[in-house]
Amino acid sequence: MTRSPKTVVPVLCYHSVGDVRRDGTLRWSVSPGDFDEQMALIRERGRTPMTVSGYAAALRGLAPLPPRPVLITFDDGFPDLAETALPMLRRHGLAATAYVIATRVGVAPPPDGDPSLDWDQLRELRSYGVEIGSHSRSHRALDCLRPTELHQEIAGSRQVLQDGTGTAVRSFAYPYGYHSTAVRTAVHAAGYSSACAVKNALSHPDDDVLAIARVLIERDTGVAGIAALLDGTGWPLAWRGERLRTRGWRAYRRARHLVHGARPRLSQPTL
Ligand SMILES: [Zn+2]
Repeated sequence: MTRSPKTVVPVLCYHSVGDVRRDGTLRWSVSPGDFDEQMALIRERGRTPMTVSGYAAALRGLAPLPPRPVLITFDDGFPDLAETALPMLRRHGLAATAYVIATRVGVAPPPDGDPSLDWDQLRELRSYGVEIGSHSRSHRALDCLRPTELHQEIAGSRQVLQDGTGTAVRSFAYPYGYHSTAVRTAVHAAGYSSACAVKNALSHPDDDVLAIARVLIERDTGVAGIAALLDGTGWPLAWRGERLRTRGWRAYRRARHLVHGARPRLSQPTL
């Protein structure tokens, strides 16, 4: 039975696919050779690739969940998604979802900032069938923002990306994985039908469609790590709601935000 709670759904969260990254971010950049091997393994294991919106429809009971599903997602919209990863995804016939930061698309990065996909690349990804989702307007920690700022980051980014790509944007990914009840409510109100968190846990048919669990794939995850993920070993099943330590960490960050107006620096590893 496909909706058995024992069905585990690995949702992989990649960032960059390349070998040249600035200090501190190489950890989140998988080498092209490793990425190709990982995609080949997913194919060999007979996994059914889905976009996040396809999976969300199954979570909502609107469509059947195919056997042995797997999801491949990319955060932050690095250009190597189109230049390096896309040809490999195509060769292996794998669907994917890309979460991009609306105000960075096609804009030259600051001296210490990361490059971004441009609009032509986004349309190319879209034409292959890669789902384009929003990773907010400017990649701030949303659970520390005021309602008007939240609206700009969540609803505003959706509008920008829909205008730029000419297609509906239906999924959202929380910057740094941070979300709260207010953030999830704003995502729903803005018209998104799904959202991805991180959690470093395996998703399953009873997962929260507005906080889908993903596992961060790092440079040293390797093929063995992906194999373990596909086997459903080494990671817990996703839980509902927030863990106490998550709430405590948010209280600390909110206090910092009030005192310093601090936002995460662009140069810190983006998640
Ligand atoms: Zn991010």
